[in-house]
Amino acid sequence: MTYADIVIVGAGASGMAAACHIGAAAKTKKKIYILEHKNAPAKKLLATGNGRCNFTNEITDEESFRGNAPEFAYDLIKQYDKKWLLGWLKDIGVVHTQINGYYYPRSLQASAVANSLISKTDGYGIRIRLNEHVKDIKKENGQFIITSDKESYTAKYVVLAAGGKAYPALGSDGSGYMLAGKLGHTVSSLYPSLTGLIMEGMAFKSCSGVRAKAGIKLYDSDTLIKENYGEVQFTDYGISGIPVFQISRYAAQLAENKKRVRISLDLAAEYSFDELYAVLKEISEKNPKKPICDILNAVIPYKLAKTICGMRKKDPGDLFLICGMLKDLTLNVRSVMPFDKAQVTAGGVYTGEVNKHTMESLICGGLYLTGELLDIDGNCGGYNLHFAFASGACAGMDIGGKL
Ligand SMILES: Cc1cc2nc3c(=O)[nH]c(=O)nc-3n(C[C@H](O)[C@H](O)[C@H](O)COP(=O)(O)OP(=O)(O)OC[C@H]3O[C@@H](n4cnc5c(N)ncnc54)[C@H](O)[C@@H]3O)c2cc1C
Repeated sequence: MTYADIVIVGAGASGMAAACHIGAAAKTKKKIYILEHKNAPAKKLLATGNGRCNFTNEITDEESFRGNAPEFAYDLIKQYDKKWLLGWLKDIGVVHTQINGYYYPRSLQASAVANSLISKTDGYGIRIRLNEHVKDIKKENGQFIITSDKESYTAKYVVLAAGGKAYPALGSDGSGYMLAGKLGHTVSSLYPSLTGLIMEGMAFKSCSGVRAKAGIKLYDSDTLIKENYGEVQFTDYGISGIPVFQISRYAAQLAENKKRVRISLDLAAEYSFDELYAVLKEISEKNPKKPICDILNAVIPYKLAKTICGMRKKDPGDLFLICGMLKDLTLNVRSVMPFDKAQVTAGGVYTGEVNKHTMESLICGGLYLTGELLDIDGNCGGYNLHFAFASGACAGMDIGGKL
């Protein structure tokens, strides 16, 4: 049995943030272990933002987070806001840049953040034990017993920072939910979020890789659930891209509950139907020999135009009907891309069981829960990392203050 003061499960964004803040707040040197089952710390962090690590956003509001009680995250972020985050990152050696409201390290390299976290924890003498999978945690006589596949530890405090179950290749395999459940916590239904949508009939196989600006509306039968706008990427399975990611957690929920899920794409959102028809009709009248796909290419990519024309079996040359398709291309959603392709998990440990000022469990004293493990999922745009860092820091400061 190895004696520790604190054991942190998971060397991801929130676990590393917790470790740094415990190290900074502790008045005396403590034995702190981070147990990580991958062969390196911060593997997922390194993959974020296409390797650039988008860690926060210019705008954060009530709409930035989802979950049973999204205000849990919003309240925390009001306290650990962008100013706090940028200040802390600067302290550990990360300066930022901002692109279209998205914040990144100035170097545009996630390694700048990961390496700064690693060297900070190292500076505090915190030991990161790699290739060590935590199988069990129990509490006996006021002490936690943490059992990994290599060793057993006893500790006064545990930070469960094991992430969700999205993209398990980068570490978070869902085992955190099992550990939290064993310690008495409730875990809500889990859905993949920030992921692509799989369409019925593989509608876009022939234009896979094409990108186009579009409005997207998600419907449960005829009821509008969510809408978004941005660059949609067409793929061999369906659609992807930021606006698709933003609505994906709702589509996942609906599909799971066997609802009739459909989307409508507006591929010419800046035009009304009449304006679009007028523009395309004029091109057609001035260029009577121009094939319809070439006419549509005035407003959408050619391959997409061909795919859409191919969808119209009846009256394929009817510009009026084709304009209707451009403004309201309705498709049925079969499902969303699975957890192993999703960026985030929607659902998790019920936040009503966690003290929102400290991240300490209200069920099991001395246990802290942070990051994606909780029933919070942020929009695309840096919100998930901001929440992971903020919740980790909050837990770390509370523990550090008790030492
Ligand atoms: C491809 C991709 C891109 C993303 N891009 C962005 C982005 O640009 N901006 C943004 O805000 N968010 C992004 N996210 C989401 C973001 O990375 C996560 O929400 C965030 O990392 C969650 O932090 P966490 O500390 O809760 O969990 P994680 O970072 O997942 O860390 C959990 C750690 O715990 C370890 N672990 C789990 N179980 C055990 C166990 N039983 N024993 C030992 N170790 C264990 C895991 O290996 C992992 O290292 C992205 C996600 C992915 C997959």
